[in-house]
Amino acid sequence: VHPTAARREYPIQVASEKTTYSDAHVTAKFSDRGATVETLQNGQFKVTPTVTDYEFKTQLKVPKLGLMMVGLGGNNGTTLCATVLANKHNICWHTKQGVQQPNYIGSLLRASTVRLGSDAAGKDVHVPIGEVLPMVHPNDLVLGGWDISGVPMDKAMHRAEVLDWDLQRQVAPYMAEIGAPLPSIYYPDFIAANQEARANNLIPGNDKQEHVEHIRRDIRAFKEKHQLDSVLVFWTANTERYSDIISGVNDTADHLLASIKASHSEVSPSTVFAVASILEGVPFINGAPQNTFVPGVIDLAEKNQSFIGGDDLKSGQTKLKSVLAEFLVNAGIKPLSIASYNHLGNNDGHNLSAEAQFKSKEISKSSVVDDMVASNALLYDPEKEPAAGAKGTKAKKGEHPDHIVVIKYVPAVGDSKRAIDEYYSEILCGGRSTISIFNECEDSLLATPLILDLTILAELLTRVQYRNVTKGDKEFQPLYAVLSLLSFMLKAPLVKPGTEVVNSLSRQRNGLEAFLKACIGIEGSSDLILGTRVW
Ligand code: NAD
Repeated sequence: VHPTAARREYPIQVASEKTTYSDAHVTAKFSDRGATVETLQNGQFKVTPTVTDYEFKTQLKVPKLGLMMVGLGGNNGTTLCATVLANKHNICWHTKQGVQQPNYIGSLLRASTVRLGSDAAGKDVHVPIGEVLPMVHPNDLVLGGWDISGVPMDKAMHRAEVLDWDLQRQVAPYMAEIGAPLPSIYYPDFIAANQEARANNLIPGNDKQEHVEHIRRDIRAFKEKHQLDSVLVFWTANTERYSDIISGVNDTADHLLASIKASHSEVSPSTVFAVASILEGVPFINGAPQNTFVPGVIDLAEKNQSFIGGDDLKSGQTKLKSVLAEFLVNAGIKPLSIASYNHLGNNDGHNLSAEAQFKSKEISKSSVVDDMVASNALLYDPEKEPAAGAKGTKAKKGEHPDHIVVIKYVPAVGDSKRAIDEYYSEILCGGRSTISIFNECEDSLLATPLILDLTILAELLTRVQYRNVTKGDKEFQPLYAVLSLLSFMLKAPLVKPGTEVVNSLSRQRNGLEAFLKACIGIEGSSDLILGTRVW
């Protein structure tokens, strides 16, 4: 079995008075060090270091977890099921290059490592990130969910045209055991008209309250049938249009619940799924770009202390962009324009060929360089007023690079999305530099490991509790409802309202690494390696 698929017992023991173990929990004391900065009238900065003491308590027992995907029969849904089943049953298959073994390459948790420290000889010791705390193994997930297309999973996998035929052939009997997706909710106004031909597996009626109840019953029945300890619901269905945010309709939890009762037309299917999940107390993750999390949903998740995360999987072009933009800006080079073209030929591309659905994707792809730009006032003047009549990025206050995103549907390339990006930058004394990138993204094979990582991490975060010792908290409590620690895998990370979004891929990864390490009482940042720099 390939090492990324192999399973080991939880391998880490921290020997420190800050870390204690019981049969049920690991508990760790952690000091969060930061600084508050005051800008004085003379332009100087007064920096006051701060320390806040926390204690984290993580349940060690890994639950039997069910993953219910909305859009189960789509390219991502079928690819995820088939690759998990291939790993679980150790199915190897023939390709033109030879025999291929199943693995979890592309998964942060299963195929990347973090540095724990160094051994007595000074050599770095790394472990898979997925072993820093006990986590669900993807092979153990119980898979199910909904789709508006009732095609059974083995046939839906053929329809997706993602996997090698020899793998499809062998995994098909296992896929057939999952059966057909559960019927789902279809409000034609929210996805492209070209999807109508697929919609043959529908929960009847237009009563949105009844739809919420129906989804809740489905979640409970799935849990019961498979004897699960917990369930997570994941939206990997088609991109919807944006919902209008209307005061009195979806701006607070109470208004949203009342709007659902009244079957208001601005409540989308994805919002119905999110609300049903929150009311059931199961985490809900949005892997598509639309604004499922209208303010009323965030309010409801806060009130119910139920977890949500989103938006939109960061699989190919945007992942590269968040790295390249950061590299340029952090190197003191000034991107003047970023022009991004995509073409793809799968059903997602077909849906995105409609204007309203493209708009959702355009918004989620566009915000990704904002924090890098805002971090560097030497390059971008934050006070610059937009020119009269300016549109798009030019209309925002402060100086920004021009940033455009184009997506075209080209059926011939299928799931193999092509992304072409040009970074045009200013360099020393008026010089110019152009970087052009052609990135071929096997879409569903990049997205599947992200869905697994998001599911497994979100489940772990439901088992972590904290108390703020500095504040005098007596009781441990769950983390905040919006799981911004999932940002590494997400294109437009949802964060606690009023806090800053971090798009930088390296900051997102460092943040996650530091958090997981804090939960076992070790320091996150290892890049200082001070011992190598002093006598
Ligand atoms: P897909 O079209 O192959 O699959 C989507 C599935 O959702 C279809 O089977 C469709 O029948 C179903 N569906 C639509 N509305 C539904 C509803 N209301 N309830 C239940 N099922 C519904 O698309 P995909 O390639 O699997 O992508 C899925 C989503 O993930 C898209 O929104 C896409 O934009 C997003 N996404 C994908 C990637 C990637 O790299 N693959 C990256 C980022 C985001």
